[in-house]
Amino acid sequence: MKRSINAVINKSFALQKMQAGKPIIIDFQKTNFQKIYFPRSNRRDWKNWHWQIKNSITDLDRLDEILGIDPVEKAGLEDLNIKLPLRITPYYADLIHSLGKDHPLRRTVIPSLNEFQKSFGEAADPLHEENDKKVPGLVHRYPDRVLVLLTDFCSANCRYCTRSRLVGQTKMICDFEKVFLYIQEHKEIRDVLLSGGDPLTLEDSKLEFYLQKLRAIKHVEIIRIGTKVPAVLPQRVTVQLVNILKKYHPLLMSIHFTHSDELTPECRTACNMLADAGIPLGSQTVLLKDINDSASSLKKLFHELLKVRVKPYYLYQCDPIFGSAHFRTSVSKGIEIISQLRGHTSGYAVPTYVIDAPGGGGKIPLQPKYLVDENSDYVFLKNYEDNFYAYPKIK
Ligand code: SF4
Repeated sequence: MKRSINAVINKSFALQKMQAGKPIIIDFQKTNFQKIYFPRSNRRDWKNWHWQIKNSITDLDRLDEILGIDPVEKAGLEDLNIKLPLRITPYYADLIHSLGKDHPLRRTVIPSLNEFQKSFGEAADPLHEENDKKVPGLVHRYPDRVLVLLTDFCSANCRYCTRSRLVGQTKMICDFEKVFLYIQEHKEIRDVLLSGGDPLTLEDSKLEFYLQKLRAIKHVEIIRIGTKVPAVLPQRVTVQLVNILKKYHPLLMSIHFTHSDELTPECRTACNMLADAGIPLGSQTVLLKDINDSASSLKKLFHELLKVRVKPYYLYQCDPIFGSAHFRTSVSKGIEIISQLRGHTSGYAVPTYVIDAPGGGGKIPLQPKYLVDENSDYVFLKNYEDNFYAYPKIK
């Protein structure tokens, strides 16, 4: 019997066991990547989100060992002696490793000397969030909604992060008691966006505590969560987590995606679990130079997202944080991409392209010019094929 089980373990992916009358699948298959770089772990570890966080890449030597970095860049980064927040989950490192050295996703998480070059108009807090901070951890900019920065922790640190001044830096404090009182006292707040850092990296009990407290405030109509977990740590989307989330409807989720290659089977499962729990899912994508700045790349991403019930929601012009010039495209490029999507594919696959205005002006939508002229009788319009039409005015 023992020999036959071993044979199954060695030859196939999974072993079925009976537990409380239900079969559970134990996946014993390790990928080559796991065998080489995490040899003491097993497949159960790999599927455990705590293990993924604990074993994340957080220093340059380990990064070099696993993903290989340019020696000149590495020496330069070491010389600068600045502790850049660096974090990549083993899962995401495996994905990047498998995609090869030229894949654009590498640049989104691997530090570069370019981050130390300050260019025109860049700032640590270009959106002036600190100015709209009402209590520690709460930003109130728009009339009926607030942003709550629950944690400074992310399971993967994006090199172009708007909040790189805070994320992974242990400088951020969220005083939830004050946050709660502020929201309770401001009856105009009907929408609370939980972000950070990534709120889904909090333990279930802590996250549920926050959700419970917020849901108890009568004028809070919707709660939103901003996260990158399905893309970089899909193991976090457990049955327990979705069972908690679905207790606090209406709860919506905005998921950060960059490239269609992030839509792995694990990521698709995570999105489907969230969608099955009745959570409306939207995506947020930052337009990044030489990473996803083409209509074909983004169209593929948006189509794949719709297949897992994630509506492409926002396409962001990259915020001008310090050292972001190598990531930023021109605004005209963004508008050109939208004009290559609008009308050429389903409207559901076209997000709103926005600039989050430097100085704290909020999100400003940008789109190609479809309204070209008007006179006393008509407005003149241009369609996606550059054909002109006249719409009669009401007389
Ligand atoms: S997931 Fe969002 S908050 Fe976290 S590092 Fe990336 S951009 Fe910043």
